[in-house]
Order: sequence, then C-alpha cells, then structure tokens
Amino acid sequence: MPAPAGLYLHWKLPGELTGLADLALDLRWTWHHGSDVLWRTIDHECWDATHNAWLVLNSVSGKQLLTLAEDADFIALLTAQLAAYDEFCQSATWFGAAYPETLKGQVAYFCMEYGLAACLPLYSGGLGVLAGDALKAASDLGVPVIAVGLLYQQGYFRQEVNTDGEQVEFYPYNDPTMLPLMPLRDDQEDWVRVAVDLPGRSVRLRVWIARIGRCRLLLLDSNDPRNEPKDRGITSELYSGDSEKRLQQEMMLGLGGWRLLQRMGIQPSVVHINEGHCAFALLEQIRALCNATGMGFEAARLATRAANLFTTHTSVASGFDLFPVKLISQYFSDYLREVGLGLDDFLQLGQAGGRFSDDFNMSYLAIRLSGRLNAVSRVHQEVSRHIFSDLFPQWPLDDIPVDYVTNGIHTPSWDSPEADAIWTEACGKNRWCGSLEKIYLPSVSISDERLWEMRSKQRHRLIRFLRGRLHTQHCEHGNGTNAEASCGLLLDNEALTLGFARRFTDYKRPDLLLRDESRLLRLLNDRDRPLQVVMAGKAHPNDLHGKALIRRWKQFIKRSDMHGRVVFIDDYDLDVATELIQGVDVWLNTPRHPWEACGTSGMKVLVNGGLNLSQFDGWWAEAWRPDVGWAIRRDASLFRLSNSSEYDEEDATELFTLLEQQVIPGFYDFDSAGLPRKWLAMIRNSMETLTPLYSANRMVREYTEQFYIPMEKRRQERSAQHTQSLVLQLQQLQKQWPLLRFGLMDCVEHGDNLEVSVQVYMDELDPGLLKLELVADESEYGGRVVMEMRGEHAMSGNYLFRCRVPIRPLEHYTPRLVVGDCRLNLPLEDPRILWRS
Ligand SMILES: *Cc1c(COP(=O)(O)O)cnc(C)c1O
Repeated sequence: MPAPAGLYLHWKLPGELTGLADLALDLRWTWHHGSDVLWRTIDHECWDATHNAWLVLNSVSGKQLLTLAEDADFIALLTAQLAAYDEFCQSATWFGAAYPETLKGQVAYFCMEYGLAACLPLYSGGLGVLAGDALKAASDLGVPVIAVGLLYQQGYFRQEVNTDGEQVEFYPYNDPTMLPLMPLRDDQEDWVRVAVDLPGRSVRLRVWIARIGRCRLLLLDSNDPRNEPKDRGITSELYSGDSEKRLQQEMMLGLGGWRLLQRMGIQPSVVHINEGHCAFALLEQIRALCNATGMGFEAARLATRAANLFTTHTSVASGFDLFPVKLISQYFSDYLREVGLGLDDFLQLGQAGGRFSDDFNMSYLAIRLSGRLNAVSRVHQEVSRHIFSDLFPQWPLDDIPVDYVTNGIHTPSWDSPEADAIWTEACGKNRWCGSLEKIYLPSVSISDERLWEMRSKQRHRLIRFLRGRLHTQHCEHGNGTNAEASCGLLLDNEALTLGFARRFTDYKRPDLLLRDESRLLRLLNDRDRPLQVVMAGKAHPNDLHGKALIRRWKQFIKRSDMHGRVVFIDDYDLDVATELIQGVDVWLNTPRHPWEACGTSGMKVLVNGGLNLSQFDGWWAEAWRPDVGWAIRRDASLFRLSNSSEYDEEDATELFTLLEQQVIPGFYDFDSAGLPRKWLAMIRNSMETLTPLYSANRMVREYTEQFYIPMEKRRQERSAQHTQSLVLQLQQLQKQWPLLRFGLMDCVEHGDNLEVSVQVYMDELDPGLLKLELVADESEYGGRVVMEMRGEHAMSGNYLFRCRVPIRPLEHYTPRLVVGDCRLNLPLEDPRILWRS
C-alpha cells in the first residue's frame, strides 16, 4: 500500500541516490548500523546531533547531494548497503521456516506508545521501549506483526533540571514530515484517513506509516486542518491530558485503529492489546462483526475474544486507566445504541462485581473482551492475580487465569560496538535472529583480557559522553558551582561506575542510596577503591514526590565534599539510556518489592558485560543467581500490596553492605596481570546465560508459540454456528445456575487413596456443561490438589460424582462446580463457581 518513498522527499534525489530514501525510511538503521557511514558522510553534524536518517536526507543541500552522486566511493558504499538491504528483505526467517501456514492475517499489536528511536519521540518509558523492542524482534524473527499507535505532535515532555533541582518541562513540536515516517497512501495515491465520532462531531485521523524492518507501524494523528481546533490537539501530548482528553485519545487509538485495519483490508489473526489503554479496539472489532453479520453483541463478543490477548504491564492498581461513568455515558451512548447494548451492560464490562458507582476500568474491559491474559514476569503474575481477583469472585488466587511472559529487550539495539564485535566473532552475524541455542563466549578466543578491554573502552566512552552533556548542562545554568565537578571532569575513567536511570517515582526508590549520606560519601571518596554514580530520570509532571526526589539528588550533588563523583544527566531518553547501559559496570535497581512489574533497563547491560545489583523483584527474581550478580532481600516472597515503606531501611542497609563487602572489593580485586578474574567470571556468566533469556527474541517466540498460534486456532474453531450454540448453552446455564445444589458427600479408603463421592442436583441442565472438581489446599499432607470428578446419573436431575485422591481428612477436600466446556478458556470467559459449603 505505501507508495515509493522518493515521492515525499523535500528534495528530488539525484537518480544515483534514490535508494537512500528507502534506507532512510526503514528504522532498521536504529539497530543495524551498516548505513551509519552514509548518513555521516552526507551530513555528520545533523546525523550526530539527531540520529535521524530521514532528517539528514531532508535537510542536506541539493549541492551536497549532487556532489555525492558523483562521488564513486559514496556510490560504492550505497550500492553495497542497498544490496545488503535487498538480501535482508529476501532472506528466510525463523517464523517463515517454523510456522509457514499460520498467522496469515497478521498479529495486530496495539499500544499507546512506541519507543523505537530517540528521534521518534512517541514514548515515555518502559512500556513504549518494550513495544519498540518487540517490533524489532518480530522483524528479526519474521513474525508478521502490524502495529497501531498514535502520532504525538509533542510526545512526552523533555526535561531540564535547573540549579535549584527543579524539573522544568518542555514540549517541543515535532514536524511529522521530518520524522522517519510516510503518509499512508492508498491505491489512488490518496492519503488514508479514518474518522471517529465524538459527541456532535466527527474527528478525522490522518495515517502515517513507519517501517521497522519486516514490520509496519501505523500511526494515527488528529492534527488535520479540517478538524475543529480543539480536536486537532487530541494527539498532541502523551500522558499529560486530563481524563477527558485521555478518553478521546484512547477512542482514537482503539476505534480509529480498528477502522484503519479494516480500511486496509486487514483481518488480524490475533489481536494483542498492551495495557488497557487500547481496549476500545476490541469493542470496535465486535461492532464491526455485528454490522457485518447481524450477530448480537454477546455472540460477537464470544466469537471474537478467543484470539484477543491482553497483556497487563502494571503492578499498581492505581496505574490503571479509570474513567468516570458520566464521561463514558456521554461519549458512548450513541455508539452503544448502534451495537444494541444497554449502557448498564456496557458499564458492567468495566467494573467488578456489580459495584455500579465505581469508575470504568479499561483493564477490566480488556479482560472481558479477551481470550487470554498475561503478566510480564513471574512476580507480576502473582501480583496481577491479586489485582484482578475481584473479577473472579470466590476463585482461589492460584486459579485466577493470568499467564506470564517475562519481558525481554532487543539485544541488537542495545549492544555497544565493542560488544557487537566480540559477539560477532563468537556467534556470527545473525546470532539474535534465530532460536538462540548457540550463544556462548569461548574462553579461548574471547579471553579475559579482551572482555576487560571491552569493558574499559565502554566506560571511557560513557565518561566522554557524560562530560559532553554535563558541560552543556553547566553552561546553560551558568551558576557559581564548582565547574570542574559539574562538568564531570572529576569522573575517573578507571573507577567502578554505578548507573541508575528510571522514572523518578516513590516505589522505584531512587533515593535509597541517600538514606545514609555519610556512608555513601565514604564509598565515593575512597582513595584506593572509589565508586562513582551516574543518575538520570524524569518525574511525571504531576508527581510532586518524584520531583522532590530529583531535588534531593541535585542537592547532594552540590556538596563540595562529594568531589564530583555523582552526576545527574538531564532528559533521560533512548539515547541517554544507550550510553549509560553500555558504559556502566553495575546497574542499580531498587524498587519496592513487589512493585516492579518486570523492569527492562537491567537487561540492557547484560550483552555489554554490565552486572546487575537489584532488588529481588520483577525479572531479577527469576534471573538472579549468585554467579551473575547481586540481589537485595533475596528471600522476599511475602506480598504486601500496600505501597509500604517498612523495608526501606533494611533494604538500604543491605544495599550498602553488598556494595562494601562484595561489589566494590570484587571490582578492584586485580591479579598480577591487572585483571579482576572473579569479576570477569561473573561477567562471562551473566553475558552467556542471561543475554539470550532476557532478549525480546525469546519473548516474541514465547508469545508466538504459546499465545498467537494456539489462539488463532481457537478462534478458527469458533465458527458462527459454534458460537451460536455456545451462546444458547451459556444462556441456559445462566437460567439454571441458581437451581444447582450439592447433596451428601462421603468417602471410602482404598489403600493410600480416598474415594470421595458427592451428590449434585442439576435440575434439567446437561451435565456436560459443568465440571465438578475436588479441591484441597496445600497442607502438612502435601501439595494442592485439584481433581476432576466423574458423574453418573441417579434420578431426576440428581447425579453422583466420584474420584480418587490421596488420603487426607475428608474435611480438607471441598467440591466445586464450575463451567466445563473445552471450547472456552475458563474461568476467564465464564467465572461462575459454586462451592459446597
Ligand atoms: C529501558 C528503558 C526504560 C525502562 O526501564 P525500567 O527498568 O523498566 O524502569 C525506561 N526508559 C528508557 C528510556 C529506557 O530505555
């Protein structure tokens, strides 16, 4: 569908150079650095400042282009890159080889933000970077993904921290024509638009397309001059508006996004919703099916949801999107009339257990319209089961249907040139594009000397980068502080460098090191074994506490007895992150357990030989072993779902003890050859064992094999006919459910087993629709038991169910009746349950 790229350049490219436009418009250059030399040759100043190949091409002078067109060396470089690009486009992929006949309609991936490159500022943090990394890995693997998002004119805010430590926010305007995107044109060369109705008007959305290797990202933008002025700004900023604007944005993304897919003739095989923000896409999917087939809402919901995957990314229930009921009814009454759904019925989909006064929860809506639900780490699975337990009343936590896929990062986007060279030598060029079975670093060729040299070079480059940024920050603020310290000149190329960069917010505890300033000062000022610290991070504009945390660090940095050993880099973004994670020796992460859903920044240091010192939480609770890094409070298992600070003191003490007794002595433990052998052994373990596991490659393969492919199959089984019969059965169940009741329960011993029998009265219900299970909790007799019982008909609606279970006192066993139908994913799709009291 997209037309040739050359048409939209501001300059007409000389014929010899037309291939440049194709290269510049494929964001593959954000991880595949083959074409860097071209952009640098065209305009090194613009390239170094922006890392935006499309901007380079659009801002260079016509004269320079003519010169390059006649430069044989440049043409040779370009020809080689175009040939390599052609080869990439033609090459076989992991997915193509393993699953040739599946996902023909593609996976539609919805997310509110995408972090693909610093020059495409459509992200705020973890969620966006994860989505960007997932798309890049899908491209590597050949998994057919089409992504949908919003094009923000201003995106998330840019940060400056003034001398008083106050965060100042800026919203620079991004000219979309200078971003590496294209207007999406249809066969008639018309710019594709879709419309979404808001009360009393219709909002037009323009569509842009970004190419990410083999995948495409479609971006909707309301800044169409034909819209009313206030509507042009709906897609201006990310996460800054009030609730009404947020609702409008989510309607654009969900309703607009689904219409766009339809307009393009795409019938997705699977829909993957990331966070509740995009749940309206699933609603629009239902509406479209109702319109096309005349099905009712319930049937269409059942028919569509089997192949909808909802991934929850938050551990904090207050992080979910909530909308006042009044706003929902204002914005959706016309819409609901069209699908024949009453307002109350709709509101119920966004609320738990009939509590009508509650706000409308987008995560609840997403769950009610999905066929599977997953969290993003094992710890997060447990937390999510708590958070969503209201949707599954009377279900034990263990049975709440939340799966998990631990996040991963797109390794080729985060490796340093030095690390890339070493890995290429050990494992070849396409090492991150397959199933990662042969990832290792042979110690013969990749010696300790080489690993240490790699680490040193990376640290030196980081310090050069820090000095550059700090010099600018210092001059901008032009104050009386010690210039040497504030320009980073006191940083030491050879000192142990600790990095901490993330959103400044309470639960992430960026101030844990400041709980004992004198202890920290001792470590920083140690003559023989100094520690230095690099900090970065933004606080949400409304998060006053987060802003205070930034202020505390800035005040600490001003202390003259700190001797320039701690620096704070403004405006944490993808570029800053890249420099930090490549250069630091140790990455620090100190969230309050269990609030880190997963955390991904620590994964980015792995490939580069950085080590993690982190709270035993999120991904680190799965990855940590004593020979790969350090964990704070590693026996943490108790869940306290309040944002309790009760362990802060203890965790801070443990953090200092780890630094003093293990991390610092380990780093400076050089042998006679000047190498810290034990440290290097840890680096080698961490690189070899963790890099493949915490890659987006592994994550995308897991989503593909365990979710996308089986879900597509389930949806195919749900034909219109099957769905109709399911709806009728569920209606019958609904009617008869209040009549079901338990009778006598009895048992006889058979050796080590107990044969338990239970009477159940089922009225006229077909027992095939139900499942009777015998459940015992874990106790001194053994682990949890959930055993299905087999039924025999006795008389007029009475059934006798039996099963054999390990011997325990009979009162340990409780029977329960649940819906039993192998076509449904239970209890997600029907959480009815009846326990024998
Ligand atoms: C990786 C990354 C994040 C996410 O880091 P967490 O460890 O999940 O806090 C946030 N922002 C940027 C710029 C990143 O690169």
